[in-house]
Amino acid sequence: MVIEPDGSVACVEGRPVETTVHDRALGVILASACGDALGAGYEFGPPLPADEPITMRGGGNAEWAPGEWTDDTSMMIPILESIASGHPLDDPSTLGRIVAEWADWAQDGATIGRQTAAVFGRLTANTEDAARAAAAAVHAERGRSGGNGSLMRTAPIALAFLGDGQKRPLADAARRISELTHVDEDAGDACTLWSAAIRSTVRRGSLELRAGIPLLAKDRRTIWLDRIEEAEQSQPEDFTDRNRWVVGAIQGAIAAVVRGSDLVDVIERAVRGGNDTDTVATIAGALGGAVHGASALPERWTLLVHGWPGKRLEWLQTLTERALERVPEIRRNERA
Ligand SMILES: [Mg+2]
Repeated sequence: MVIEPDGSVACVEGRPVETTVHDRALGVILASACGDALGAGYEFGPPLPADEPITMRGGGNAEWAPGEWTDDTSMMIPILESIASGHPLDDPSTLGRIVAEWADWAQDGATIGRQTAAVFGRLTANTEDAARAAAAAVHAERGRSGGNGSLMRTAPIALAFLGDGQKRPLADAARRISELTHVDEDAGDACTLWSAAIRSTVRRGSLELRAGIPLLAKDRRTIWLDRIEEAEQSQPEDFTDRNRWVVGAIQGAIAAVVRGSDLVDVIERAVRGGNDTDTVATIAGALGGAVHGASALPERWTLLVHGWPGKRLEWLQTLTERALERVPEIRRNERA
């Protein structure tokens, strides 16, 4: 990747990059869903060598169909639907609606992460307050809630805050939605960082990994700068044994995004890292999609990918486009 002095990406592997804000914003959701579906068939497996083909094979721990997305994408959908319907993400009634959608989906027999399932098991009402109380109770009981389950679903939030001056409101929403299930500070920090990185990357067209650092508490910034730097110098498989933890997951995803020569390579690298393959590839796909755009996804993936609630990737694209119609900056960009 060649970064121009003005911060834009000039070429990737010698090819000029011609992405628009719209293509990059669409890429956030579609590439993460493709990563989720690609990783599903490899979940909890070992790291894989670079010459092993990675395919949409399905299977895995929940016998996914080839190309089927998992809980990562399913949990994004109610957030995306809220944005597309114009419900503000800083409104408690919107968050209550998201919790209700998640709870409905969970009762559909969905395969859900342990932390999230424990929180749903304690829900007394479909409200933001009830979810926060349940998340706090689970955290107190276990002494931790730093799994990667809130980071995996955070990507759509950035799309609601792409406009000018929206960085701080985005950080607030990302942490607040993370805390519906995960109260651990690392989880909230990771969602803030990833959301801010996605937002800035979509807006600028260059990879902006550290855009969210100023949005963290002062005593957390050096910790995260060190973690990002470590990840930039690593491969996803350096985090295999800790990628169910939100920090290991974001570090594996950073390694995949930074090392990947194109969007397919980013996502396949994340899967090759092993262990929580669907989630690391979902996370990597979100930021990788912001860098390379949805147009960089191959048809062998986009024609096959599907999932709850019985929809194909095309439906997810339409939903994302409806969400993006709410962003005046995107509409202006498309007219220009
Ligand atoms: Mg999953």
